[in-house]
Amino acid sequence: MLRIKNLEAGYGPLKVLRKVSMHIGPSEIVTVIGANGAGKTTLLKTISGLLCAQAGEIIFGKRNLRLLPPEMIVFLGCSLVPEGRQLFAPMTVRENLILGAYVQYRRRRQEEVKEDLERVFALFPRLKERETQLAGTLSGGEQQMLAIGRALLSRPAVLLLDEPSMGLAPRLVREIFDHIARLRRERGVTILLVEQNARAALSIADRGYVLETGRVVLEGTAEDLLANRDVQRAYLGRERNGTP
Ligand code: ATP
Repeated sequence: MLRIKNLEAGYGPLKVLRKVSMHIGPSEIVTVIGANGAGKTTLLKTISGLLCAQAGEIIFGKRNLRLLPPEMIVFLGCSLVPEGRQLFAPMTVRENLILGAYVQYRRRRQEEVKEDLERVFALFPRLKERETQLAGTLSGGEQQMLAIGRALLSRPAVLLLDEPSMGLAPRLVREIFDHIARLRRERGVTILLVEQNARAALSIADRGYVLETGRVVLEGTAEDLLANRDVQRAYLGRERNGTP
């Protein structure tokens, strides 16, 4: 479904991703774990077209996304839920969600957008209760739900999630990860999940990759990675947000 080959990217003279290769099959949850600065956000920014790749390929279905603009990548079905949520704080929950449908809006009837809104509200009833509340006044967990909901309005086949656990209490981390697992189970959405909270991520993922200083140093099933001594030592010792 999504195949990344020898991807290289960075910022000016700073090279961050070095020959990164990975694949994500249909309806899989694949996680990328790694320490601060390993290049996880850079990877998602490059896939979603916010950062231009210096080399390599990003094959999605039959297209190479590498030189496409971000709006086209969303249009084709690959949506990013960015680190830190990046909501429109002075706008309501409903308005933020509708913006998620923007790139598809001209092609879709208003009725379809309404149906999609209701589907998001069914998944996150708390957003329905707060439909007219300003996004900036939501709690951290609610903001994360809204950021995921907004991405769902673009009807993605692949969802790229950047640190959904960031800044959340352990109970909320568990709730958000339950929602992510449900998205795949009930809607078949394919998920690439970038996380520092390795234990939470591996608990819902099928497979994972470990990124260190921009290189994939290990890959395997979630079960194998959880049992791996090096992974245990480096990433499962003390969790930033507690265990789910
Ligand atoms: P974290 O878990 O802390 O978010 P990460 O694995 O997502 O880390 P990145 O944000 O991808 O790491 O950063 C990788 C490297 O790129 C870091 O050394 C960072 O300082 C650098 N970097 C990130 N964004 C920029 C930028 N806009 N300009 C210059 N360097 C950047």
